Amino acid sequence: MKWVLAFIILAMAGVSEAAIKVVTSLPDLADLARQVGGDKVSVDYIVRADQNPHFVEVKPSYMMKLKSADLFLTIGMELEMWAPQIVDGSRNASLTVVDLSQGVTKLEVPAKVDASQGDVHRFGNPHYWLDPRNVRPMMDEIVSALTKVSPADEKTFRANADAYLLRLGVKIQGWEAMMKPFAGQKIVTFHKSWSYFANWLGLDIAGEVEPKPGIAPSPTHSAELIALVRSAGIKAILVEPFYDLSAPEQIARATGAKVTVLPTSSGGLDQTRDYISLIDYDVATLASSLKQ
Ligand SMILES: [Zn+2]
Repeated sequence: MKWVLAFIILAMAGVSEAAIKVVTSLPDLADLARQVGGDKVSVDYIVRADQNPHFVEVKPSYMMKLKSADLFLTIGMELEMWAPQIVDGSRNASLTVVDLSQGVTKLEVPAKVDASQGDVHRFGNPHYWLDPRNVRPMMDEIVSALTKVSPADEKTFRANADAYLLRLGVKIQGWEAMMKPFAGQKIVTFHKSWSYFANWLGLDIAGEVEPKPGIAPSPTHSAELIALVRSAGIKAILVEPFYDLSAPEQIARATGAKVTVLPTSSGGLDQTRDYISLIDYDVATLASSLKQ
């Protein structure tokens, strides 16, 4: 009996020691970490797909998630303005915070930081994960962060990342082919979440429902957008699932453009359970709005 107990305790200790504990801000990063880490990692995340990643209410449960974590993977560029507070609150001196934006070519980096530009994006647009070509530099950071925790597994992490990137590369070709007929089309978006996505697919973002990033819609700005949507013949207004639909619907009613709700993170819908199915869903949904 004693031997059996000792064995069970040792086996349990073995399991908990083996896994690198990774927490990520977004569910998409959790998916990428699982792809790279495989059975060497246990992964959890903080922001749900139906939450605005800029504005997350700091909760003790988030600090608890980080308390015993080895790595906290973030988008960086101040997307997660709430992150320093939960990192401090976790009181985990051995936690490494990883900024996945390091190898990414950044868009909309302001020449100088100016409060009149709105509340967010002062280090450039942080929504780079919606261009799937940016998964490569993100995964490179994940490989190197995991390797620092477990150097013996470096080859496994690299091989897992390369296998995923190969699979993703095939998907990227398919998405580009599907969107090719719409290249050059103008769209309106609610927030500047879609700059990298539009840049990748050759779409032209003519305006945002927000007058400035993080600033709520105003009647004056919506009136200007109605005139723009009419004159440019814009067919789609992209809205993230966590924004109020009243201003976009008002613009749509006045113009005939279609309000197109597109998730920016995976895990909110049955069809968007991981990163690849998220982009699948967004590309197919947008294509059907632009076809009309
Ligand atoms: Zn933003």
